[in-house]
Parts: sequence; C-alpha cells; structure tokens
Amino acid sequence: MELIYKSTRNSEETATASLAILKGLANEGGLFVPDSIPAFDVSLEDLAKMDYREVAYNVMKLMLTDFTEEELRHCINSAYDDKFDTKEIAPLVKKAGAYYLELFHGSTIAFKDMALSILPYLLTTSAKKNNVENEIVILTATSGDTGKAALAGFADVPGTKIIVFYPKNGVSPIQEKQMVTQKGDNTFVVGITGNFDDAQTGVKKMFSDVELNDYLATKGYQFSSANSINIGRLVPQMVYYVYAYTRLVASGDIKAGDKINVVVPTGNFGNILAAYYAKAMGLPINKFICASNENKVLFDFFATGNYDRNREFILTTSPSMDILISSNLERLIYRIAGNDAAKNKELMTALNSQGEYTITDEMKAELKDFFGGYASEAETAETIKKVYESDGYIMDTHTAVAANVYDKYVAETGDKTPTVIASTASPYKFTRSVMNSIDAAYDKQTDFELVDELNRLSGVKVPQAIEDIRTAPVRHNTVCDKDAMLDEVKKFLGV
Ligand SMILES: *Cc1c(COP(=O)(O)O)cnc(C)c1O
Repeated sequence: MELIYKSTRNSEETATASLAILKGLANEGGLFVPDSIPAFDVSLEDLAKMDYREVAYNVMKLMLTDFTEEELRHCINSAYDDKFDTKEIAPLVKKAGAYYLELFHGSTIAFKDMALSILPYLLTTSAKKNNVENEIVILTATSGDTGKAALAGFADVPGTKIIVFYPKNGVSPIQEKQMVTQKGDNTFVVGITGNFDDAQTGVKKMFSDVELNDYLATKGYQFSSANSINIGRLVPQMVYYVYAYTRLVASGDIKAGDKINVVVPTGNFGNILAAYYAKAMGLPINKFICASNENKVLFDFFATGNYDRNREFILTTSPSMDILISSNLERLIYRIAGNDAAKNKELMTALNSQGEYTITDEMKAELKDFFGGYASEAETAETIKKVYESDGYIMDTHTAVAANVYDKYVAETGDKTPTVIASTASPYKFTRSVMNSIDAAYDKQTDFELVDELNRLSGVKVPQAIEDIRTAPVRHNTVCDKDAMLDEVKKFLGV
C-alpha cells in the first residue's frame, strides 16, 4: 500500500515519498508528515540477526513505498559503505551505566552523516522517478554539522548544486575549517552575520517565495533541502534506533519486547522525532529524554506547554544545539493536535508573529512519554571530566549534555530501564571544549596540538576527517549579512 505524506499546514496538500523528498518543504512553510506509520513486517528477533544495511532496508521500505526494492537497496548500499570507519556503521558502546550509540563514524564525524550519506541518492532517485529535468539546488542552513555532512554528500553529484549558510561566529573552529575547505565545483559555503535561527529563517523564506521559485524554474533550477525538515533526513534516522535496540536483543542485554529509554541531545528536534516515529513503527521505547543545552526552549516547553523563543540566544560549547526554533517540533505538534493541520497552522502562525504559543492540556497529555531536561555549560564540562575519569571514555560536548540530563532523569525518577544515549559527534570535532573540560590548562594549546593530546588521552585513532583538514586550503571565504542571503544564491547560480 502506498504511504502518502501530508503537509502539516494544509490537509489538501499531499505527496508521495519521492515527491516529498524532492520538494523538501511543503507549501506555506508546512512540513511533510507520513499520513500513518506502518508497523514492522518482520519480528524484532529477525531484525536482531540483520546487519545495518538490512535493518535499514526493512525500516525504510515501509516509509518510502514508491521506491522499488532495487532503487532502495542501491541507495542504502551506496551510502553505508567504507565511508564509515567501522562495519557496524553505528556501534553501541556500554559505558558508565548507559549504552552510547556512536553515530559519528561517517566521513564528517557527526551524526548528520547517518542521513546525509544517503540523502543524495534518495534525492537523485526521486528526481529520476518524477522526471525532473531541472538542476537541484540544495539550500541548507547549518548550526555546524549538517553543512559539512551535506557538502560531503552532494559534492560533485551530477545534477545538483549545494549552498550552505552557517553562522559566522556560531560554529566550532574545526566545524568551520571542515566546511570552508570543501572541494567540488558544485559547492558554495557562506558565513552569515547572524545566528542559526537567522540562517534557517532565511532559507525557509527562499523556499516559500513562489515568485523566486518560478523564476529559478525558467533558469533550469529548483530548490530542495538537506535540513531535517526534509523527510529524506528523518526516515534514515529512524533506522539506527531500531538497529541499537536489536543489538541489545542480539547481545542478550534485553529480550525482544522489553522497553528501552532513549536520550537525545536536541536542537532542531529531528533526531528525537525519528525515535518517536520508530516507536510508532513498533519499537518498544519507554521514554524519550530530550536534552537541551542552555538554549532550553524545549525543556521549558515540556514543563509548561508554552513554547517561547523570545529569549536571549546563547552561544554554548554544544553549538549544533544552539537553536531557539526547533523546526521538527512542528511535526510532533501536528500529531498531538490529532493530525489537525488547521490547529497546527494556528500555533505556527503565532510562533511566527508573537514568537510563542501554548498547547492545550489535552495536547500536553499526549507528551507523557517525553522527559525534558537541560545541562548548563558547567555541568556539561563536569560530565565529560567525570566519565573520562571513571571509564576512560571521552565524549563530545553534545553527547555530554545528554549524559548529564540522563543522570538527572535517573536521580529524579529512579527508572532503571536500559537506556541508549545518542552520541552525536566525535570528541575530535569539538576538541578545544572537550579538552578544556578535562583541564582548563589545555586552552593554551593550538587546535591540532589538542587533537594529538586527545588522541593520547583517549587512545582513539584521529579520524580521517581531522587529518584531512590539517593542511587543506580554504576554498570558501564569502561572508554576508543575514538579509543578503538571496543575493549570494543568485550570484552563485549566475541568475
Ligand atoms: C545536529 C546535531 C544535534 C541536534 O540534532 P537535532 O536533530 O537538530 O535535534 C545534536 N548534536 C550534534 C553533534 C549535532 O550535529
């Protein structure tokens, strides 16, 4: 049976999976959501016997029903190969009372690789299926990690161009170096004088500009998105939760059917939403523990039912979570509103105009499986140091936010359910913040001295992604005002 996607803002707007992937965003700023989520058609025990690719196929085929088996297997096999530094793709590591699901073994060493290594294949397949002849222009806003992962995924992919906007002063030095050294004639990287929300708002504006889109079509271009607003990002992210669960079944740590908790360091709410969708598919998840840094909009939302972005934007040591408008929360709001597009649109309009909205008590009751927590900068650093000293395991700052919130959750609830923590980046990507957490004296050293010291302390091999940028020349140095993003797009496309 064909699964249909609908806009969260207009129940009349529908799309097949491939069309939803191609468009990225629905009209009027809506997001595509699956009309229903199909249940697994193989048992958890059987999934436990499969490797990552096979699990991926069995999850994704249920969500992308207009892809043929051959098309989908081609996408999966092309994505999850030796670009990852381990055959397991996403290893599960037991440390300090939890299971760390290491999602950073791809080519850019952040969890964004899990979806962005497959998105280019999903997108070009979708273009073929829908007889698209325009060149596809991937327009991306990044808080640091999506940008590089999308650039790596789309560099030199025929029929595509990719433009990435990042907050000039809002990413880590390594993140910036990774992006501005990107090769590929079809790539363009722009720093903006503004924060991530400004970049995301600017990109969404270009997507929704009907006149602009019509004009570009006359020039042979059409936009698509590599952000997690694209359903082609979310579906591949469901896979690793199923994979992690079934590894615990395979190892005998749990029995098929037992519940687990997941803890997700959250920014745009894509990663945790993928877990929520996986539960709807039949994965036994007890609690979704949503971990925020000091930009704790989501913590406040889960506590009060009021979403309020009217607050100071704080630059933290977990920059990929420095977000005040969590785009994918809209998909959850739509669902807890009873899949009611009109009701959702009303709330999103309020968010746009007043910067806040409040959900009803009835909707709030639907959030009982979520637990919101946050970690301060000091707590994040303490957590890195503590787990290093107890277990010799060095985690990155984002993962540390999650680990800290998990500690708080256990202290508050006493819940002993086995728990998977989404480990979203390699510590090498945030070396300075990580090393300063262990000892403030490290701050004197250069970025690459710190890399070598991290290698010495952790015994973990320096990833190729880091070796690559030690000497790579800068290829992108455009910086623009947040109001001039469209001009840069036009310049790059020559229109
Ligand atoms: C993007 C990112 C996050 C946040 O994920 P969302 O899906 O946006 O909630 C957390 N940690 C790291 C390292 C990231 O790159």
